[in-house]
Amino acid sequence: MTYQVLARTWRPQTFADVIGQEAVVQTLHNALSAGTLGHAYVFSGIRGVGKTTAARLLAKAVNCEKGPAPEPCCQCVSCQEIADGSSLDVVEIDAATHTGVDNVRELQEMLRYRPVRDRYRVIIVDEVHMLSKSAFNALLKSLEEPPPYILWIFATTETHKIPPTILSRCQQLEFRPVQLEKIVERLLAIAADEQFELSRDAASMVARAAQGSVRDALSMVDQMRGFSADSIDADAVAEVLGVPRFEVVIDLISALAGGDGMSGLGMLRSELRAGHDAWVLYQEVGRVLRLLLHLVVNADVAEDLPDDQRQYASGVATDLGAAALIRMAGLWLEHEALVGSADNRELALDVACLRLARWPAVQRVEALLAGELPPAIGGQSQASGSDGPPAPSAGGAHASASPGGRLSSALWAGGRRRLVGAVESAEVQVSGDEIVMEFSTKTKALAVFAQENHGEIEASCREVFGPSTRLTIEIEGGPAESIEGDDPLMRSALEDPGVVLVQKILGGEVISAVPDGDPN
Ligand SMILES: [Zn+2]
Repeated sequence: MTYQVLARTWRPQTFADVIGQEAVVQTLHNALSAGTLGHAYVFSGIRGVGKTTAARLLAKAVNCEKGPAPEPCCQCVSCQEIADGSSLDVVEIDAATHTGVDNVRELQEMLRYRPVRDRYRVIIVDEVHMLSKSAFNALLKSLEEPPPYILWIFATTETHKIPPTILSRCQQLEFRPVQLEKIVERLLAIAADEQFELSRDAASMVARAAQGSVRDALSMVDQMRGFSADSIDADAVAEVLGVPRFEVVIDLISALAGGDGMSGLGMLRSELRAGHDAWVLYQEVGRVLRLLLHLVVNADVAEDLPDDQRQYASGVATDLGAAALIRMAGLWLEHEALVGSADNRELALDVACLRLARWPAVQRVEALLAGELPPAIGGQSQASGSDGPPAPSAGGAHASASPGGRLSSALWAGGRRRLVGAVESAEVQVSGDEIVMEFSTKTKALAVFAQENHGEIEASCREVFGPSTRLTIEIEGGPAESIEGDDPLMRSALEDPGVVLVQKILGGEVISAVPDGDPN
């Protein structure tokens, strides 16, 4: 037995079987019941949404022995011949494969004859916008003085290419892209009937990729059945369609939101190595960003997601928050032209990712400039989920329990805010009751500053790590007491928590300090 493709096996035989085109079906049903059928129709819409199918159904409905009726009987000779393409009274022309003078002759030929047996001679012209100018002229004649036994059905994906003189003489019916959920339900029903396994997860991915075309969705499933026999899951779909797994994209976004550009690049590399196209990856990240944005605004958005994926995505969306997601989505969109037109798309994609990863740092500077010094960089954020400035970063997860983060939070909470910057600039290590704050030589002025405020910092250490904690301040291995302070102005600049924060966020060094408040 040869394998018949699904789109063919499952071609609707009645209007009731057509999915996602309720308006069109209703209009045709009404015209058929009321006997007010036009003599020429234009069926327009993207490929694979059922235009040709509906044309054949209409041909059956008007020529059915028991008709004309809103639904063909599917039993009579006429219905059966039309279904298997052998009816002499129903002609299908594909204008895409016929050009020039042939069209004209063919069309004139067709108009000459009355129907052989049925009520109408139905002429279906597929891709009608491809007809030549002279063919359109020949057509126009027939449309101006329509023979009562002719029913024209023109199908097109590009209505705007049909001359207005033709269009104005036809009834136009617009076929819409079929909704995702309807395609998913259709695929699942077919899988159940044909007895192969198709997970809802996989069906959603296919439907999404088909972009409203039922036929495309069915051919993808055909392809996957060839690839993975009789069980199709999300992995198989990802493999065949060349799209990354949902979770991978979410993790990539999380990493970038947390400022972790290196992990982001690593993930991209492995996706590209797995054979995924850079442009597909770019679009997928954009799609998921949009989904997260919708989820954070309304957790019940109708996007068809399996429960586990929805839960995972909702969690991430809530962590990131609307402000961050809006900003990230905006930034991502700015790179569309870059990634789309670059010769080296992989590089353009890397650039887009790294720019996104830098954003959390910029966000902290913005908060700083707005006078809202975040409680702690990478520390436990008390602001998350409440009013106040946006949480410092989504990377909080990995840093929230760090000793430095806990210490700076305590300093902040305890009103010792001018010391936060210094603590943030040091490596804080805890071993037993010993706390060591180590500064690099670049920040030795801060080390001295911290040493001068040893008592206050140690008090905070004790609040966090226990009453018997002792604090030692070091500069790259040596004790801080041995280091002399630099010039006082420079030191006061280095001690300024704002300066410290900017330095920490953007990197770089303070190379000179100028006194402020000087009117000259
Ligand atoms: Zn019939």
